[in-house]
Amino acid sequence: MLLDLAPCKRFSALTAATVVAALALAPLPPLRAQENRGPPILRDTEAEALLREYTRPILRAAGLEKQNIQIVIINDAAFNAFVADGRRIFVNYGAIMQSETPNQLIGVLAHETGHLAGGHLAKLREQLARAQTQMLVAMLLGAGAIVAGASKGGTGGSGLADAGAAAVAGPQEMIRRTLLSYQRQQEENADRAGVKFLTMTGQSAKGMYETFRRFTNDSLFAARGADPYLQSHPMPADRVSALEQIARASPYWDKKDDPALQFRHDLMRAKISAFMERQDTVYRRYPLSNTSLPARYARAIATYLHGDLNSAIAQIDGLIQAQPNNPYFYELRGQALLEGGKPNEAIAPLHKALALSNNAPLIEMLLGQALVATDNKAHTDEAIAILRAAVTREAEAPLGFSQLAMAYGKKGDYAEADLASAQAAYLRGDNKTARELAARAKTRFAVGTPGWVRADDIVTAKPLPGSKNN
Ligand SMILES: [Zn+2]
Repeated sequence: MLLDLAPCKRFSALTAATVVAALALAPLPPLRAQENRGPPILRDTEAEALLREYTRPILRAAGLEKQNIQIVIINDAAFNAFVADGRRIFVNYGAIMQSETPNQLIGVLAHETGHLAGGHLAKLREQLARAQTQMLVAMLLGAGAIVAGASKGGTGGSGLADAGAAAVAGPQEMIRRTLLSYQRQQEENADRAGVKFLTMTGQSAKGMYETFRRFTNDSLFAARGADPYLQSHPMPADRVSALEQIARASPYWDKKDDPALQFRHDLMRAKISAFMERQDTVYRRYPLSNTSLPARYARAIATYLHGDLNSAIAQIDGLIQAQPNNPYFYELRGQALLEGGKPNEAIAPLHKALALSNNAPLIEMLLGQALVATDNKAHTDEAIAILRAAVTREAEAPLGFSQLAMAYGKKGDYAEADLASAQAAYLRGDNKTARELAARAKTRFAVGTPGWVRADDIVTAKPLPGSKNN
């Protein structure tokens, strides 16, 4: 697992859409992740691959398979999932931890896909613009005219009819109620679409129902308040019972998750718990008495993070013995050795992890990092080749570029080193440093060469929104 600081394009894209949502909804979940609580986004090959498998058939059923929609895991322990820009589905790691079965998480992803397929974000913006127009008209003509207009059956549907009535409560309140009512409609549409996609792919919507039932407005869960998912997803009891009805009508209602998939789900949750939760929480979830592979996985990770490297390696070797073709156990072995100050020993397991994972770019970055960390010049060319391959496919992860910069530095290629450092800084949102390094790189390259052009691109690039110093 990589904890990669990247307030990059992924996050910046949130800004515009969340401004719209902010008017209708209370606090914004994505911003919470940026408050000094570690990196906003979690990157992990194993979790991302599984989430891709969960969503691929759903996206195909929704007719969205060509849109290259990504799943992004957010560093937030609260339950939340949302779409913000039509190109990504965001899932808090808290939603993964709270989904005990693949089917529960797939249900949430199917609901979010329902929002994407329905173009709900664009429609919400439209509705907002309309509500603002209505507000202006209300202020000019008085609320009475709006009530009359809406009751004649204008184009706005029930949301705007409500808006007329709400106008007496003041224009701001009118907008809020309009959007809230419109949003409820969208939620029900997303539920229906989600169930349809699940049924089309031969899956049960029971997990979606189980999850949403937990969030019902009058439940104990809701009474605790302040839950971001509930704030963005009003869950009145009638919505949940409508969902139950259509979900039960599916022939797949009682279909269980494939045990192999459940097992991978358990491994993913064990890993996330071990990396993200307090050590005592990890051991409470996965006590020594639990000898399942996921529990041993969690404890092996916790041991490498908080305890003794030799003991961690022994535990990881036990995992490898149980599943000799699991790339992520070798990845973990490599990561533990690398971070334990033994980069030479990390190289072989990371090569193995790469071979078994079809050259996953995040694992390539780890291997590149290990090769650079050996301080052995004989490894430099291999590091550069592997890191170049990695950043071609993972262009938004700063780690790849910062390691590339170190590799070029060891080689004495300071032009490429400055350029790669500038790219890493740019992705981290540090535009001032990015521009300075790119300007220096330009002086080292011959004018007009590809490296000079890339450096020039950074010097003249618009800063990524959300970055600190422009
Ligand atoms: Zn929703």
